[in-house]
Amino acid sequence: GNESRIQAIYQITNREPMPKKAPKRLEELWATDVFTLSKMQECLPKTVFKSIKKTIQTGEPLDVSVADAIALAMKDWAISKGALYYAHVFYPLTNATAEKHDGFISVQSDGSAISEFAGKLLVQGEPDGSSFPNGGIRSTFEARGYTAWDVTSPAYIMETDNGSTLCIPTVFVSWTGEALDKKTPLLRSNAAMNKAATKVLKILGEKEIAPVNSSCGAEQEYFLVDLNFANARPDLLLAGRTLFGKPSAKGQQFDDHYFGAIPERVQMFMQDVEERLYRLGIPAKTRHNEVAPGQFEIAPVFEAANVATDHQQMIMTMLRFTAKKHGFVCLLHEKPFAGINGSGKHVNWSVGNATQGNLLDPGDTPHSNAQFLVFCGAVIRGIHKYGPLLRSVVATAGNDHRLGANEAPPAIISVYLGSQLEDVFEQIRQGELKSSTGKGLMNIGVDTLPILPTDPGDRNRTSPFAFTGNRFEFRAVGSGQSVAGPLVAMNSILADSLNWMAEKLEAELAKGLSLSSAITTVLKEVMELHGAVVFNGNGYSEEWHKLAVERGLANLRTTADALPVLKESYIEELFSKLGVLSPVELASRFETYAEQYILSIEVEAKLVVSMVKTLIYPAATRYLADLGNASLSLKEIGVDFDKETIEKVASLTKLAIDGVSKLSDALSKHDFASVEEHMQFLSQTVRPLMDGIRGYVDALEGEVADDLWPLPTYQEMLFIK
Ligand code: ADP
Ligand code: MG
Repeated sequence: GNESRIQAIYQITNREPMPKKAPKRLEELWATDVFTLSKMQECLPKTVFKSIKKTIQTGEPLDVSVADAIALAMKDWAISKGALYYAHVFYPLTNATAEKHDGFISVQSDGSAISEFAGKLLVQGEPDGSSFPNGGIRSTFEARGYTAWDVTSPAYIMETDNGSTLCIPTVFVSWTGEALDKKTPLLRSNAAMNKAATKVLKILGEKEIAPVNSSCGAEQEYFLVDLNFANARPDLLLAGRTLFGKPSAKGQQFDDHYFGAIPERVQMFMQDVEERLYRLGIPAKTRHNEVAPGQFEIAPVFEAANVATDHQQMIMTMLRFTAKKHGFVCLLHEKPFAGINGSGKHVNWSVGNATQGNLLDPGDTPHSNAQFLVFCGAVIRGIHKYGPLLRSVVATAGNDHRLGANEAPPAIISVYLGSQLEDVFEQIRQGELKSSTGKGLMNIGVDTLPILPTDPGDRNRTSPFAFTGNRFEFRAVGSGQSVAGPLVAMNSILADSLNWMAEKLEAELAKGLSLSSAITTVLKEVMELHGAVVFNGNGYSEEWHKLAVERGLANLRTTADALPVLKESYIEELFSKLGVLSPVELASRFETYAEQYILSIEVEAKLVVSMVKTLIYPAATRYLADLGNASLSLKEIGVDFDKETIEKVASLTKLAIDGVSKLSDALSKHDFASVEEHMQFLSQTVRPLMDGIRGYVDALEGEVADDLWPLPTYQEMLFIK
């Protein structure tokens, strides 16, 4: 019966509200749990501090001779904050954050124990990470992997139910140097982009050029569901999404949730999350309701991509952890509920440095215009040439429910520039760039360009990759994903394009062309070869899907279609040429992501089988028995009973249980010639079988007596707070 549902509703409506807390002042909280540069300055000898500061700013390896002093200061600070353990935190190829905890304890020869933390333990750890997916790298090379402190990301204290831990952000590599994690390629992609950008800036005549870094600000969408409901739904607990559920009579059609008042219970949760994030030095800035009921968003202010990536992982951890404290489950799945909006992560990305500023900011002088157009042109070329790569880095089982549906950016990768900028690039293509007065031909960087838009007012929400004034926004990223993969791809394709441009510009200059003519010529070529990727219209429309095919753009609908892109030779060449991922490292990523896709579909399919057999089938047959009994008793007194309902319930139940046996058969198939074939089978055969069964079960939910229905309904989960 529905006892667990009734119990859940009872628990929720009778719950003690969290005690109200006055919000703390930001100044009191900010970065109190971070071992910041200024804290280091206070407690480190001058020479040691100078050395670490230089390392942080240049990203060079830490001078081991100062590691002991830093470790000692870090340990004392951590112990003063109540930490007994330290952990090397690393980012395996799943989207998770992993940590290995060790105590600051050292047992002396006389049996006494002292707290100790040597420099070598700070700089390098050896986690027993053998169970992390690594796509075969570790068996091919060395079994062990080690972690090493990424000095550019500060250490911090994480407070959990098990006490406080000093966390040290690290890279995770094999003894032979292969990257086993998501951070190492991100650092490498940034270095490659810096090198290429510096080369181009030199050609553009810059004399003083500070290191170029990428920045990232990620908007995170999520759902909150009461913990009692989630506990009564095996699918939410194990797969993070509902595998069944009839749409509620009221969905999101009124748009009354979006930017509406945040429910008080949720607001207290958000305040708690933000306070925890502030203590960790994470600049949480915006919070609001999202389109779907029960859906919300949090966005921090953008930071250097590497730090932003670590912080993004911490935001996901904190959302989940704090939700539990408030009696919620935080769902980061891309599509927890069918029929209402899913969740994405908009990754805002730009590149810049201390001397030239944001290189994707149009600015308002002809000089900065030229620089902007070159960098923007490089992005356009990259997105066109490597569109399938961008698609593949957002390919997950969860994101398949979003991309291509009419709520999220399509699986076709295009660039939105805004009408004014599109016009400028179109004129460049036609070789007739006009000045702001609209008169006469002009050369970039010499004459006055039209003032470029700082905000292309007409926000287009249907594009997967949009220019938004001074940055690009990659909107196809899944809500549960690490932002590292997308950032690695964006930095790498930009680096590749900038290298290409540098070569072209140098060739034009060598022919005796002026700098501005050289720029115009190269940008014209970019637009002729790659302009097809620019699209300002409605990305959801049928016409675009047709037009995109005509333009030769790929439409990789599913993960099974998109992941094999990682095996293509031009992708291998891109990453190996830039030193971001070796062919072996890239292959290991394909293996790992394919395996994750396979595992998640299999878990879901097995859940469908067991939930139908043990929850849905019993409920439906009980109801059938009730109906049968009613029909018999009525017949005895000569009343004609409604046969239609009995037949409908009986036939839906039969269809569901037959579907389940087909699905079980499909799951027992194991003789696949390749991983690709296995993925295609799951996407073409298993997923449709699951969807079919869902159809019958959701129809049953509309027929079976409510007091027999075992699963909390959409209406309950989305509207009871
Ligand atoms: P939206 O209108 O899309 O909600 P916001 O102004 O809230 O835009 O910004 C979204 C995210 O973009 C924030 O994390 C913000 O810090 C980030 N952002 C702003 N400027 C840049 C930039 N130059 N580079 C990278 N991210 C940026
Ligand atoms: Mg946005």
